[in-house]
Amino acid sequence: MLPSVSNRKLAHGILNTRRRADLLVDGHIGPKTIAAASAWIPWTFEGKPTPSRWVAAIIQKESRLRAIHPGPFDAFYGPETSAAADSIRRQILAQPAPIRPDEEHATDRPSPAPGKIKCWSPTTAQLRARYGKEGTNQGIVASPYPLRLDWDLKTTVHRFSAHQSLVTVIENALRETLNHYGLDRIQALGLDRFGGCLNVRNKRGGTTPSTHSWGIAIDWYPSRNMLKQTRKTALFARPEYTHFLDLWASHGFMSLGRCYDFDWMHLQRNP
Ligand SMILES: [Zn+2]
Repeated sequence: MLPSVSNRKLAHGILNTRRRADLLVDGHIGPKTIAAASAWIPWTFEGKPTPSRWVAAIIQKESRLRAIHPGPFDAFYGPETSAAADSIRRQILAQPAPIRPDEEHATDRPSPAPGKIKCWSPTTAQLRARYGKEGTNQGIVASPYPLRLDWDLKTTVHRFSAHQSLVTVIENALRETLNHYGLDRIQALGLDRFGGCLNVRNKRGGTTPSTHSWGIAIDWYPSRNMLKQTRKTALFARPEYTHFLDLWASHGFMSLGRCYDFDWMHLQRNP
């Protein structure tokens, strides 16, 4: 049994999300995909690696992270792995939650004015003191408009995990985005191109946890605001995105792009 094109694409999407691999989601398992996969999963399996076996390993590992039981972790692609891929897709496509009435959407603390956000990088100890252990205290954000996965635009999500203390704040920011731009403009500007929030992992190329590990950072439109892009080429550095970054800043989210001129996709709420 061989992985379908859509499950090979799913493997690309997983690597792009977990490893920020910047892979083309085309279902082709070439050297770049295999390099990203082997950086994530050491090949300790029986037998030789092949493209299909890498796809199996990626789906099996992702399933474990999502508490889906895909059968043995053996990098062999079979019905169990295929079923696990469907479960991953179902989780990504979680049904929209009903939107709560506006009066329930009070912010949890006064918002700083845009541009007044201090640029700083909290330590792991500071993050744990404020938000708890990585991956804990999570809630579900219900977006008032569909979010397209930037690495698989045909897949939309209405809900995602974020730190419990920020659920209301993020929902307010999304609602303001919708009120200000309207859905057509949101889609034209790509403000609905979601790159992920909660993701327990280290900083890329680093040994300390990423702020995504606490669900306090969101990536938007990563394919046009990549890690190493600067204000010269990053989309969000353009004037038409000033309001969007101001809006998130008014909810306390710091833009790494504005502060440090890299990783323009990344907005984070510091302690
Ligand atoms: Zn990020």
